Amino acid sequence: MPSFDDELGELGRRALLRRLRTFDSPQQPEVVLAGKALINFASNDYLGLATEPALREAAKAAVDAFGVGSGASRLICGTLPPHARLEEAIAKFKGTESALAFSSGYATAVGTLGALAGESDVLILDKLCHASLIDGARLSNAAVRIFPHNHLGKLESHLEWARSNFPEGRVIVVTEAVFSMDGDRAPLAEIVEMKSRHGALLLLDEAHAVGVLGRNGRGLADALRLEGEVDIQMGTLSKALGVAGGYIAGSRKLVELLVNRARSFIYITAPPPAVSAAAAAAIEWLQTDEGERRREQLWSNLAVFGEQMPGIFNDGQRIQSPIIPIILGDTERALAAAAQLGERGFFVPAIRFPTVPRDAARLRVTITARHTVAQITALAAALRAL
Ligand SMILES: *Cc1c(COP(=O)(O)O)cnc(C)c1O
Repeated sequence: MPSFDDELGELGRRALLRRLRTFDSPQQPEVVLAGKALINFASNDYLGLATEPALREAAKAAVDAFGVGSGASRLICGTLPPHARLEEAIAKFKGTESALAFSSGYATAVGTLGALAGESDVLILDKLCHASLIDGARLSNAAVRIFPHNHLGKLESHLEWARSNFPEGRVIVVTEAVFSMDGDRAPLAEIVEMKSRHGALLLLDEAHAVGVLGRNGRGLADALRLEGEVDIQMGTLSKALGVAGGYIAGSRKLVELLVNRARSFIYITAPPPAVSAAAAAAIEWLQTDEGERRREQLWSNLAVFGEQMPGIFNDGQRIQSPIIPIILGDTERALAAAAQLGERGFFVPAIRFPTVPRDAARLRVTITARHTVAQITALAAALRAL
């Protein structure tokens, strides 16, 4: 029987051991790590909402009104007004009949795939789908097919396979609007056309697109005016919305089925009321002029970074989201680059296997609306000097 120490030692030898770091500051561009001031280019808090006064106030008011804990699962006696208000806000924002809030994006993915697919069904996932979607697919007992990243030809052959082998089953295509470690987008119009032609459903995870793309940050489906074509709209409240949680938006029947079948919704204590209240405030905030200005600031910051890093992508691709991967390949090389940036005052993490493929270790840069042009310019100079 291998000891815990053997296993950790093996991770260490492969440069894959990870350790937690405690930051002594709120989530913002200027952070403090082990007494050292760093500029943070790693956060998913793209709009700076994690520290936004309107959200803090909403959370405090909910603590005063409802306390800190929900006391029970949603189906027992844990559903409180902030949960109901949040779900109304999500459905209204997304233009769907209904919405359901989960405790996390991870719980949303695992619960939803498990609820909607079983052994007589097929899930077809993009190879770069987030771990939560992969785990959900694995747990569901459905037949799972993976297509190479954004590869429409292979998606189509999986759809044909599913239709002929599971003629009675539910077939669900699962992909992301903006990919979490690559920052590129799914070819949504083509995927929608294809899934419709094959009578399949589409689950689109908008985790990194909500708050960033579309009218008022409604996401990629909205940006392409395809929101009516996405059967199961998923997202998180924990990235650009700055709080925590996940959601599904869609038809009333979809939500009713999830309430009855999604184990990660049923067997979990309802989110703290303050968290749901802050998330609802985030959705309201996105739709204000201030929200629109902050989103414009994000895209203008991304343009600054793009100008300073010409040829950042080998294939001439343009920046498509706040996530910009700098692929270095070798794990040790990515770690050394992250350490070098750290010495110059920047926090940019090295992302390694198993989060990304073994030979595709990278720096994952995220730019937010709250970074200054000077901070972005300094980072670009440090990256060019690597
Ligand atoms: C972060 C993420 C999740 C999980 O969301 P949490 O709220 O952090 O649990 C799910 N899907 C994708 C694509 C993500 O990037």
